[in-house]
Amino acid sequence: TPSVFSAIEMAPRDPILGITEAFNADTNPGKINLGVGVYYDDNGKVPLLACVKKAEAILIEQSAPRTYLPIEGLAAYDKAVQELVFGADSAVIQEKRAVTVQAIGGTGALKIGADFLQRFAPGAQVYISDPSWENHRALFESAGFKVNNYTYYDPSTHGVNFAGMLADLKAMPAGSIVLLHACCHNPTGADLTQAEWDQVIAVIAANNLVPFLDMAYQGFGAGIAEDGAVVRRFAATGGPLLVSNSFSKSFSLYGERVGALSVVASSAEEASRLLSQLKRVVRTNYSNPPVHGGKTVATVLTSPELRQLWEDELAGMRVRIKEMRDALVKKLKEKAPSHDFEFVRQQVGMFSYSGLTKQQVDALRAESIYAVDTGRICVAALNSTNIDKVVDAIAKVL
Ligand code: PLP
Repeated sequence: TPSVFSAIEMAPRDPILGITEAFNADTNPGKINLGVGVYYDDNGKVPLLACVKKAEAILIEQSAPRTYLPIEGLAAYDKAVQELVFGADSAVIQEKRAVTVQAIGGTGALKIGADFLQRFAPGAQVYISDPSWENHRALFESAGFKVNNYTYYDPSTHGVNFAGMLADLKAMPAGSIVLLHACCHNPTGADLTQAEWDQVIAVIAANNLVPFLDMAYQGFGAGIAEDGAVVRRFAATGGPLLVSNSFSKSFSLYGERVGALSVVASSAEEASRLLSQLKRVVRTNYSNPPVHGGKTVATVLTSPELRQLWEDELAGMRVRIKEMRDALVKKLKEKAPSHDFEFVRQQVGMFSYSGLTKQQVDALRAESIYAVDTGRICVAALNSTNIDKVVDAIAKVL
Protein backbone atom coordinates (compact mmCIF):
# COMPACT_ATOMS: atom_id res chain seq x y z
CA THR A 1 0.00 0.00 0.00
CA PRO A 2 1.25 3.52 -0.80
CA SER A 3 2.54 5.45 2.21
CA VAL A 4 1.97 9.07 3.06
CA PHE A 5 5.34 9.74 1.39
CA SER A 6 4.96 7.78 -1.82
CA ALA A 7 3.26 10.49 -3.91
CA ILE A 8 5.56 13.35 -2.84
CA GLU A 9 7.14 15.11 -5.78
CA MET A 10 10.69 16.42 -6.00
CA ALA A 11 10.90 20.06 -4.86
CA PRO A 12 12.44 22.53 -7.33
CA ARG A 13 16.20 22.95 -7.01
CA ASP A 14 17.56 26.07 -5.36
CA PRO A 15 19.00 28.03 -8.32
CA ILE A 16 22.06 29.30 -6.44
CA LEU A 17 22.90 26.01 -4.74
CA GLY A 18 22.58 24.35 -8.16
CA ILE A 19 25.46 26.52 -9.39
CA THR A 20 27.56 25.49 -6.41
CA GLU A 21 26.91 21.82 -7.18
CA ALA A 22 27.95 22.27 -10.82
CA PHE A 23 31.00 24.25 -9.71
CA ASN A 24 32.07 21.58 -7.22
CA ALA A 25 31.77 18.91 -9.91
CA ASP A 26 33.99 20.90 -12.35
CA THR A 27 37.51 19.42 -12.43
CA ASN A 28 39.14 22.49 -14.07
CA PRO A 29 41.63 23.80 -11.45
CA GLY A 30 41.14 27.35 -12.76
CA LYS A 31 37.37 27.37 -12.13
CA ILE A 32 35.85 30.54 -10.64
CA ASN A 33 32.50 30.76 -8.84
CA LEU A 34 30.88 34.20 -9.15
CA GLY A 35 27.48 32.75 -8.27
CA VAL A 36 28.11 32.71 -4.52
CA GLY A 37 26.43 34.91 -1.92
CA VAL A 38 29.36 35.26 0.47
CA TYR A 39 32.33 37.59 0.85
CA TYR A 40 35.68 36.14 -0.15
CA ASP A 41 38.96 37.85 0.69
CA ASP A 42 41.68 38.48 -1.89
CA ASN A 43 42.85 34.86 -1.44
CA GLY A 44 39.41 33.60 -2.43
CA LYS A 45 38.63 32.48 1.14
CA VAL A 46 35.79 33.25 3.55
CA PRO A 47 37.65 35.22 6.26
CA LEU A 48 37.48 34.56 9.99
CA LEU A 49 37.56 38.12 11.33
CA ALA A 50 40.21 38.93 13.96
CA CYS A 51 37.54 40.57 16.14
CA VAL A 52 35.59 37.28 16.11
CA LYS A 53 38.70 35.27 16.95
CA LYS A 54 39.43 37.56 19.93
CA ALA A 55 35.83 37.47 21.16
CA GLU A 56 35.81 33.68 20.93
CA ALA A 57 39.06 33.51 22.93
CA ILE A 58 37.35 35.54 25.66
CA LEU A 59 34.32 33.21 25.59
CA ILE A 60 36.48 30.07 25.77
CA GLU A 61 38.32 31.60 28.74
CA GLN A 62 34.98 32.26 30.47
CA SER A 63 33.96 28.58 30.06
CA ALA A 64 30.36 29.49 30.75
CA PRO A 65 27.74 26.74 31.16
CA ARG A 66 25.36 26.37 28.20
CA THR A 67 22.09 27.34 29.78
CA TYR A 68 19.07 28.29 27.67
CA LEU A 69 18.91 31.88 26.52
CA PRO A 70 15.67 33.79 27.11
CA ILE A 71 13.13 33.30 24.28
CA GLU A 72 13.98 36.74 22.87
CA GLY A 73 17.72 36.00 23.05
CA LEU A 74 20.68 37.44 24.90
CA ALA A 75 19.77 40.83 26.42
CA ALA A 76 23.20 42.36 25.68
CA TYR A 77 22.91 41.22 22.07
CA ASP A 78 19.40 42.60 21.55
CA LYS A 79 20.46 45.93 23.03
CA ALA A 80 23.58 46.12 20.86
CA VAL A 81 21.51 45.28 17.78
CA GLN A 82 19.03 48.06 18.53
CA GLU A 83 21.82 50.59 18.90
CA LEU A 84 23.46 49.46 15.68
CA VAL A 85 20.25 49.43 13.67
CA PHE A 86 18.45 52.50 15.05
CA GLY A 87 21.46 54.49 16.32
CA ALA A 88 22.51 54.70 19.97
CA ASP A 89 20.70 58.02 20.46
CA SER A 90 17.47 56.85 18.84
CA ALA A 91 14.16 58.08 20.24
CA VAL A 92 12.54 54.68 19.67
CA ILE A 93 15.11 53.12 22.01
CA GLN A 94 14.87 55.87 24.64
CA GLU A 95 11.08 55.71 24.60
CA LYS A 96 11.16 51.87 24.69
CA ARG A 97 9.13 51.67 21.52
CA ALA A 98 11.49 49.25 19.78
CA VAL A 99 11.58 45.55 20.62
CA THR A 100 14.23 43.15 19.34
CA VAL A 101 14.44 39.38 19.30
CA GLN A 102 17.61 37.47 18.45
CA ALA A 103 16.99 35.32 15.37
CA ILE A 104 18.48 32.43 13.42
CA GLY A 105 20.22 34.67 10.88
CA GLY A 106 18.47 37.20 8.70
CA THR A 107 16.30 34.42 7.27
CA GLY A 108 15.04 33.49 10.73
CA ALA A 109 14.29 37.15 11.44
CA LEU A 110 12.22 37.41 8.25
CA LYS A 111 10.36 34.23 9.15
CA ILE A 112 9.52 35.40 12.69
CA GLY A 113 8.32 38.68 11.20
CA ALA A 114 6.27 36.90 8.54
CA ASP A 115 4.63 34.53 11.05
CA PHE A 116 3.93 37.42 13.41
CA LEU A 117 2.31 39.50 10.63
CA GLN A 118 0.28 36.53 9.44
CA ARG A 119 -1.21 36.30 12.92
CA PHE A 120 -2.17 39.96 13.20
CA ALA A 121 -2.59 41.07 9.58
CA PRO A 122 -3.78 37.87 7.90
CA GLY A 123 -5.59 39.58 5.03
CA ALA A 124 -2.69 41.78 4.02
CA GLN A 125 -0.70 41.12 0.85
CA VAL A 126 3.06 41.29 0.66
CA TYR A 127 5.00 43.20 -2.00
CA ILE A 128 8.64 42.48 -2.83
CA SER A 129 10.94 44.14 -5.34
CA ASP A 130 11.21 42.79 -8.88
CA PRO A 131 13.66 41.10 -8.65
CA SER A 132 14.43 40.29 -5.00
CA TRP A 133 16.48 37.85 -2.95
CA GLU A 134 15.03 34.57 -4.17
CA ASN A 135 13.96 33.41 -0.70
CA HIS A 136 11.73 36.42 0.05
CA ARG A 137 8.80 35.17 -1.98
CA ALA A 138 8.96 31.58 -0.71
CA LEU A 139 9.36 32.74 2.86
CA PHE A 140 6.28 34.94 2.92
CA GLU A 141 4.24 32.46 0.89
CA SER A 142 5.12 29.73 3.35
CA ALA A 143 3.82 32.01 6.11
CA GLY A 144 0.49 32.13 4.24
CA PHE A 145 0.72 35.43 2.35
CA LYS A 146 -0.02 36.24 -1.26
CA VAL A 147 3.23 37.79 -2.53
CA ASN A 148 3.33 40.35 -5.36
CA ASN A 149 6.15 42.22 -7.04
CA TYR A 150 6.65 45.96 -7.20
CA THR A 151 8.60 47.53 -10.06
CA TYR A 152 12.24 47.96 -9.13
CA TYR A 153 15.06 47.18 -11.55
CA ASP A 154 15.39 48.82 -14.95
CA PRO A 155 17.61 46.72 -17.24
CA SER A 156 18.03 49.60 -19.67
CA THR A 157 19.73 51.84 -17.08
CA HIS A 158 21.02 49.05 -14.78
CA GLY A 159 19.50 51.17 -12.00
CA VAL A 160 16.13 51.60 -10.28
CA ASN A 161 12.97 52.39 -12.23
CA PHE A 162 11.97 54.84 -9.53
CA ALA A 163 8.90 56.28 -11.25
CA GLY A 164 7.57 52.74 -11.70
CA MET A 165 8.32 51.83 -8.11
CA LEU A 166 6.59 54.92 -6.74
CA ALA A 167 3.52 54.34 -8.92
CA ASP A 168 3.28 50.75 -7.63
CA LEU A 169 3.63 51.89 -4.01
CA LYS A 170 0.84 54.44 -4.53
CA ALA A 171 -1.46 51.73 -5.94
CA MET A 172 -1.05 49.31 -3.01
CA PRO A 173 -4.07 48.85 -0.73
CA ALA A 174 -3.72 50.30 2.79
CA GLY A 175 -2.24 47.75 5.18
CA SER A 176 -0.08 46.07 2.54
CA ILE A 177 3.32 44.86 3.72
CA VAL A 178 6.21 46.27 1.66
CA LEU A 179 9.50 44.48 1.84
CA LEU A 180 12.41 46.84 1.14
CA HIS A 181 16.14 46.22 1.01
CA ALA A 182 17.65 48.78 3.40
CA CYS A 183 20.94 48.83 1.48
CA CYS A 184 23.01 46.85 -1.03
CA HIS A 185 20.05 45.43 -2.94
CA ASN A 186 20.37 41.70 -3.62
CA PRO A 187 20.52 40.69 -6.49
CA THR A 188 20.86 43.93 -8.49
CA GLY A 189 23.26 46.15 -6.49
CA ALA A 190 20.97 49.09 -7.36
CA ASP A 191 19.92 51.21 -4.36
CA LEU A 192 17.67 54.23 -3.96
CA THR A 193 19.14 57.69 -3.38
CA GLN A 194 18.35 59.45 -0.09
CA ALA A 195 15.96 61.77 -1.94
CA GLU A 196 14.15 58.75 -3.41
CA TRP A 197 13.92 57.17 0.05
CA ASP A 198 12.25 60.37 1.28
CA GLN A 199 9.52 59.92 -1.30
CA VAL A 200 9.12 56.22 -0.51
CA ILE A 201 8.82 56.96 3.21
CA ALA A 202 6.21 59.66 2.52
CA VAL A 203 4.04 57.37 0.35
CA ILE A 204 4.28 54.50 2.84
CA ALA A 205 3.20 56.76 5.69
CA ALA A 206 0.43 58.49 3.71
CA ASN A 207 -1.05 55.21 2.44
CA ASN A 208 -0.74 53.32 5.73
CA LEU A 209 1.52 50.64 4.29
CA VAL A 210 3.60 48.46 6.61
CA PRO A 211 7.34 48.70 5.82
CA PHE A 212 9.52 45.65 6.47
CA LEU A 213 13.19 46.57 5.98
CA ASP A 214 15.60 43.74 5.30
CA MET A 215 19.17 44.76 6.15
CA ALA A 216 21.53 41.89 5.38
CA TYR A 217 24.53 44.00 4.31
CA GLN A 218 24.90 46.86 6.78
CA GLY A 219 28.39 48.29 6.31
CA PHE A 220 28.92 46.97 2.78
CA GLY A 221 27.49 50.06 1.07
CA ALA A 222 28.73 53.44 2.27
CA GLY A 223 29.42 52.58 5.94
CA ILE A 224 27.71 51.25 9.06
CA ALA A 225 25.89 54.46 10.02
CA GLU A 226 25.34 55.52 6.41
CA ASP A 227 23.71 52.20 5.48
CA GLY A 228 21.59 52.26 8.64
CA ALA A 229 20.39 55.82 7.97
CA VAL A 230 17.33 54.65 6.07
CA VAL A 231 16.19 52.55 9.06
CA ARG A 232 16.50 55.63 11.27
CA ARG A 233 14.43 57.70 8.92
CA PHE A 234 11.68 55.10 8.80
CA ALA A 235 11.79 54.82 12.60
CA ALA A 236 11.42 58.60 12.89
CA THR A 237 7.98 58.33 11.27
CA GLY A 238 6.79 56.51 14.39
CA GLY A 239 6.06 53.04 13.02
CA PRO A 240 4.72 50.51 12.44
CA LEU A 241 8.06 49.20 11.19
CA LEU A 242 9.76 45.83 11.05
CA VAL A 243 13.51 45.46 10.53
CA SER A 244 15.36 42.20 9.98
CA ASN A 245 19.13 42.32 10.16
CA SER A 246 21.86 39.77 9.71
CA PHE A 247 25.48 39.47 10.82
CA SER A 248 26.20 36.63 8.40
CA LYS A 249 28.08 38.91 6.01
CA SER A 250 29.17 41.83 8.20
CA PHE A 251 30.81 39.49 10.75
CA SER A 252 31.56 36.69 8.28
CA LEU A 253 29.62 34.40 10.63
CA TYR A 254 27.43 32.64 8.05
CA GLY A 255 27.16 29.28 9.76
CA GLU A 256 26.60 30.65 13.25
CA ARG A 257 23.21 32.00 12.15
CA VAL A 258 23.15 35.40 13.87
CA GLY A 259 20.46 37.94 13.07
CA ALA A 260 17.60 39.77 14.72
CA LEU A 261 14.11 41.10 14.19
CA SER A 262 13.26 44.55 15.53
CA VAL A 263 9.77 46.00 15.57
CA VAL A 264 8.87 49.64 16.23
CA ALA A 265 5.58 50.33 18.00
CA SER A 266 3.74 53.58 18.69
CA SER A 267 4.16 53.36 22.48
CA ALA A 268 6.12 51.44 25.11
CA GLU A 269 2.92 49.73 26.16
CA GLU A 270 2.18 48.58 22.61
CA ALA A 271 5.81 47.46 22.28
CA SER A 272 5.54 45.18 25.31
CA ARG A 273 2.43 43.54 23.84
CA LEU A 274 4.27 43.03 20.53
CA LEU A 275 7.25 41.50 22.29
CA SER A 276 5.03 39.02 24.12
CA GLN A 277 3.58 37.88 20.77
CA LEU A 278 6.98 37.72 19.04
CA LYS A 279 8.14 35.49 21.88
CA ARG A 280 5.18 33.23 21.23
CA VAL A 281 6.22 32.85 17.59
CA VAL A 282 9.78 31.98 18.63
CA ARG A 283 8.65 29.63 21.41
CA THR A 284 6.49 27.57 19.05
CA ASN A 285 9.17 27.37 16.36
CA TYR A 286 12.48 26.65 18.11
CA SER A 287 11.92 27.79 21.70
CA ASN A 288 15.00 30.02 22.03
CA PRO A 289 18.05 30.96 19.96
CA PRO A 290 21.55 29.47 20.14
CA VAL A 291 24.18 31.00 22.41
CA HIS A 292 27.50 31.12 20.60
CA GLY A 293 26.94 33.50 17.68
CA GLY A 294 24.92 35.96 19.74
CA LYS A 295 27.54 36.04 22.51
CA THR A 296 30.33 36.48 19.99
CA VAL A 297 28.66 39.43 18.26
CA ALA A 298 27.60 41.01 21.57
CA THR A 299 31.16 40.70 22.90
CA VAL A 300 32.54 42.50 19.85
CA LEU A 301 29.90 45.22 19.75
CA THR A 302 30.15 46.05 23.47
CA SER A 303 33.95 46.12 23.78
CA PRO A 304 35.37 49.44 22.50
CA GLU A 305 38.58 47.78 21.32
CA LEU A 306 36.92 44.85 19.52
CA ARG A 307 34.27 47.12 18.09
CA GLN A 308 36.91 49.34 16.53
CA LEU A 309 38.63 46.27 15.13
CA TRP A 310 35.32 45.08 13.62
CA GLU A 311 34.61 48.47 12.06
CA ASP A 312 38.10 48.45 10.53
CA GLU A 313 37.72 44.90 9.22
CA LEU A 314 34.28 45.63 7.79
CA ALA A 315 35.68 48.76 6.11
CA GLY A 316 38.39 46.54 4.64
CA MET A 317 35.76 44.26 3.08
CA ARG A 318 33.79 47.25 1.78
CA VAL A 319 36.87 48.88 0.25
CA ARG A 320 38.05 45.66 -1.38
CA ILE A 321 34.68 45.20 -3.09
CA LYS A 322 34.83 48.79 -4.39
CA GLU A 323 38.35 48.16 -5.71
CA MET A 324 37.10 45.08 -7.56
CA ARG A 325 34.24 47.12 -9.09
CA ASP A 326 36.73 49.74 -10.25
CA ALA A 327 39.14 47.13 -11.61
CA LEU A 328 36.36 45.27 -13.43
CA VAL A 329 35.13 48.46 -15.12
CA LYS A 330 38.63 49.61 -16.01
CA LYS A 331 39.77 46.27 -17.40
CA LEU A 332 36.54 45.72 -19.36
CA LYS A 333 37.00 49.16 -20.90
CA GLU A 334 40.37 47.98 -22.21
CA LYS A 335 39.25 44.54 -23.38
CA ALA A 336 35.74 45.42 -24.64
CA PRO A 337 35.81 49.15 -25.42
CA SER A 338 32.49 49.11 -27.31
CA HIS A 339 30.61 48.03 -24.15
CA ASP A 340 29.86 50.38 -21.28
CA PHE A 341 30.17 48.83 -17.81
CA GLU A 342 30.40 52.11 -15.92
CA PHE A 343 27.14 51.20 -14.11
CA VAL A 344 29.02 48.52 -12.15
CA ARG A 345 30.73 51.36 -10.27
CA GLN A 346 27.37 52.89 -9.31
CA GLN A 347 26.03 49.62 -7.91
CA VAL A 348 26.65 48.88 -4.22
CA GLY A 349 27.17 45.87 -2.00
CA MET A 350 28.33 42.38 -2.82
CA PHE A 351 26.40 41.93 -6.06
CA SER A 352 26.11 43.27 -9.55
CA TYR A 353 23.47 42.66 -12.14
CA SER A 354 26.11 42.59 -14.85
CA GLY A 355 23.74 42.73 -17.79
CA LEU A 356 25.09 39.38 -19.05
CA THR A 357 22.36 37.32 -20.69
CA LYS A 358 21.56 33.68 -19.95
CA GLN A 359 23.36 32.72 -23.20
CA GLN A 360 26.44 34.69 -22.14
CA VAL A 361 26.34 33.10 -18.67
CA ASP A 362 26.17 29.67 -20.34
CA ALA A 363 29.14 30.59 -22.55
CA LEU A 364 31.11 31.67 -19.45
CA ARG A 365 30.38 28.31 -17.88
CA ALA A 366 32.16 26.64 -20.78
CA GLU A 367 35.23 28.56 -19.51
CA SER A 368 34.60 27.24 -15.96
CA ILE A 369 33.35 30.62 -14.78
CA TYR A 370 30.06 30.33 -12.92
CA ALA A 371 27.47 33.13 -12.60
CA VAL A 372 23.71 33.16 -11.93
CA ASP A 373 21.48 32.83 -15.04
CA THR A 374 20.09 36.31 -14.38
CA GLY A 375 23.59 37.74 -14.85
CA ARG A 376 24.11 38.31 -11.14
CA ILE A 377 27.77 38.16 -10.19
CA CYS A 378 29.24 38.36 -6.71
CA VAL A 379 31.81 41.16 -6.90
CA ALA A 380 33.28 39.88 -3.61
CA ALA A 381 34.28 36.65 -5.40
CA LEU A 382 36.66 38.63 -7.65
CA ASN A 383 40.27 39.00 -6.54
CA SER A 384 43.62 40.16 -7.85
CA THR A 385 44.43 36.61 -9.04
CA ASN A 386 41.21 35.79 -10.94
CA ILE A 387 40.00 39.15 -12.28
CA ASP A 388 42.00 39.11 -15.53
CA LYS A 389 40.70 35.67 -16.39
CA VAL A 390 37.13 36.80 -15.68
CA VAL A 391 37.53 39.97 -17.78
CA ASP A 392 39.02 38.04 -20.71
CA ALA A 393 36.17 35.52 -20.59
CA ILE A 394 33.47 38.23 -20.40
CA ALA A 395 35.05 40.14 -23.28
CA LYS A 396 34.97 36.91 -25.28
CA VAL A 397 31.26 36.18 -24.70
CA LEU A 398 29.93 39.73 -25.20
N1 PLP B 1 18.14 38.98 3.08
C1 PLP B 1 18.91 39.18 2.02
C2 PLP B 1 18.60 40.29 1.08
C3 PLP B 1 20.00 38.34 1.77
O1 PLP B 1 20.75 38.53 0.70
C4 PLP B 1 20.27 37.29 2.68
C5 PLP B 1 21.38 36.36 2.48
O2 PLP B 1 21.90 36.16 1.41
C6 PLP B 1 19.44 37.13 3.77
C7 PLP B 1 18.38 37.99 3.95
C8 PLP B 1 19.62 36.00 4.74
O3 PLP B 1 20.67 36.16 5.60
P1 PLP B 1 21.12 34.98 6.56
O4 PLP B 1 22.13 34.19 5.81
O5 PLP B 1 21.68 35.68 7.75
O6 PLP B 1 19.93 34.17 6.89
